[in-house]
Amino acid sequence: MNKVIVLTGAGGVLCSTLAEALAKKGNKIAVLDLRIEAAEKVANKIKDVGGTAIAVAADVLKKESLEVARNEVNDILGSCDILINGAGGNHPLGTTSNPFLYKEDLLNDSDDFKTFFDLDSEGIKFVFDLNFIGTLLPTQVFARDMVGKEGCSVLNISSMNAFTPLTKIPAYSGAKAAVSNFTQWLAVHFSKVGIRVNALAPGFFLTDQNRSLLTHEDGSLTQRGQQIIDQTPMGRYGEPEDLIGTTLWLCGEGSKFVTGVVVPIDGGFAAYSGV
Ligand code: NAD
Repeated sequence: MNKVIVLTGAGGVLCSTLAEALAKKGNKIAVLDLRIEAAEKVANKIKDVGGTAIAVAADVLKKESLEVARNEVNDILGSCDILINGAGGNHPLGTTSNPFLYKEDLLNDSDDFKTFFDLDSEGIKFVFDLNFIGTLLPTQVFARDMVGKEGCSVLNISSMNAFTPLTKIPAYSGAKAAVSNFTQWLAVHFSKVGIRVNALAPGFFLTDQNRSLLTHEDGSLTQRGQQIIDQTPMGRYGEPEDLIGTTLWLCGEGSKFVTGVVVPIDGGFAAYSGV
């Protein structure tokens, strides 16, 4: 492909896998992350097997930080062809303790028990900022490089919960719904300047963010973890590698008439009514 590809949050589990896969196809990779050590590890892994990569510290919530990162990418690798907006995640303060509210829950005044009424607006803002503003700002900074060039695109990372909200995580569900909606909006807005905009909607992947919600310390599944498997026709969690094929397709020539789509990669979760 020989493109300059910028991935945010690429020190993390899913996007580091995408960065390595895209590097193997001959692309030049800019591994952006808030955690520079994590970004460096990924870039070094790519370089160790003969690929081209740089690690760049960047905060997706700070435009100035992204502009400094873009200058570095432009100087070392060239102008950006493809942006993958991978930074994202949830926060405990935007999460309820239980899926449903019962009358007696209002009598529970334990500090770590949270109903809808205890949700903290700061936690909710954190999640909306990280997922939505953290997709918008990098796109403002890096998509400028793409205007009028051939073969450019933006790939956002939405989630299963954007289609139907998952219990307990209203902030993360709402923020990812905003990412899906923005993907469509931006696809239309950029349609005359040749930039395609699409999104992945990964289902359930066991990562550091959700491991404690889905598994016990001995590795067995929590009730929520089991519920997910029961609702997934293919009967397993996703592996980061499951995202590679769709990413290569959406970033490549094979999808040149595809824009504004959000592709579920979920083992059939979204298609299954449970009956
Ligand atoms: P992860 O936590 O492993 O990676 C996220 C990375 O983003 C981390 O390296 C972190 O340092 C970085 N980051 C956090 N805040 C940042 C900021 N302000 N600026 C720059 N970088 C920042 O998460 P992951 O599981 O690899 O998830 C990647 C994306 O996929 C996220 O958008 C997540 O919401 C989404 N997703 C994950 C799953 C899943 O099951 N893991 C499912 C659906 C969607």
